Amino acid sequence: MKNKDHEVIIIGGSFSGLSAALTLGRMLRKVLIIDYAQPCNRNARSSQNFLTNDGESPLAIIETARTKLSKYSNVKLIYDLAVSIEKREDGFKVTTMAKEIFRASKLIYATGIKDHLPSIDGFHSCWGISAIHCPYCHGYEYRGKRTAILANGEAAINMTAIVKNLTNEVIILTDGPAELDQKQLNLLKKNNVPIIETSVEKLVHNKGQIEAVNFTDGHQIKIDVLYNSPACAQHSVLTNFLAIELTNNGLIKVDHSQQTTVPGIYACGDNCTAMRTISQAIFTGNLAAAKVNTELTDENFYSI
Ligand SMILES: Cc1cc2nc3c(=O)[nH]c(=O)nc-3n(C[C@H](O)[C@H](O)[C@H](O)COP(=O)(O)OP(=O)(O)OC[C@H]3O[C@@H](n4cnc5c(N)ncnc54)[C@H](O)[C@@H]3O)c2cc1C
Repeated sequence: MKNKDHEVIIIGGSFSGLSAALTLGRMLRKVLIIDYAQPCNRNARSSQNFLTNDGESPLAIIETARTKLSKYSNVKLIYDLAVSIEKREDGFKVTTMAKEIFRASKLIYATGIKDHLPSIDGFHSCWGISAIHCPYCHGYEYRGKRTAILANGEAAINMTAIVKNLTNEVIILTDGPAELDQKQLNLLKKNNVPIIETSVEKLVHNKGQIEAVNFTDGHQIKIDVLYNSPACAQHSVLTNFLAIELTNNGLIKVDHSQQTTVPGIYACGDNCTAMRTISQAIFTGNLAAAKVNTELTDENFYSI
């Protein structure tokens, strides 16, 4: 076991963590990034709606960010899993799966979230390719295509309303009895959106590209794309330590400067926002880092 000291440890080295590291690196802070290298969009072949990188592979964007960060010798990146956190008098102690121990005054959680994909045959293979969660990220690529929305209740209506801007061929799959009131049913009728309530059995696909949906009653519909917002949870067990508070939706509770409910621990990226985009992850990483830098400055410069 080794002991190493840093001013800031960033847990998670994807879009949000790397963004925080860049800001802190440029302020000469001694930073360690611990990353398990499982970004949530790793299955997607391309990533959209992020200025200057529209259409680029997400892993290529991360790789470019890492390469550019490597010029800041005060920023170190290791590939490991942080498994526990302890509060010490002078900061925090982080232990990793490889049994390394690191210490820092401040922590930034950039740990993302984990999607719990529906257990429908074929769904995993299509995830991020033709089974997608976000019309802003992937909708343009499927404009005008035969589109299914796997959702129920208000979520189905909300997603349909947005996706209808991109294609006229939209069908809702509620995968069980529809939970829609008469007003919602009238809205769907007015907008020519049919509903299928039969349970979904399988997504028929070719290398992740959906071709059809099979239902448990034996019938099939041809589609090109399926939208679904899977249930999600914190990617990391680290929120179990030190009683970091979560919101009712399971996101890390942060204030306007990305400070969690535990002083000295900040959070950024998907783990604390419902707006899951690369731009947002980068923005909040940048913000968290600036606030951490200010806090460190206050502690050093103004202490007598
Ligand atoms: C299928 C899919 C497609 C998407 N497409 C787009 C798109 O086209 N455009 C767009 O703008 N957005 C897209 N998004 C959203 C975008 O991917 C996320 O908003 C972004 O990845 C969030 O970045 P993040 O750094 O917060 O988390 P992530 O990218 O999920 O990274 C979190 C990192 O933290 C690591 N980690 C977690 N816990 C630990 C730990 N204990 N120790 C060490 N490391 C840890 C993980 O391994 C991972 O590397 C997509 C999302 C999905 C799921």
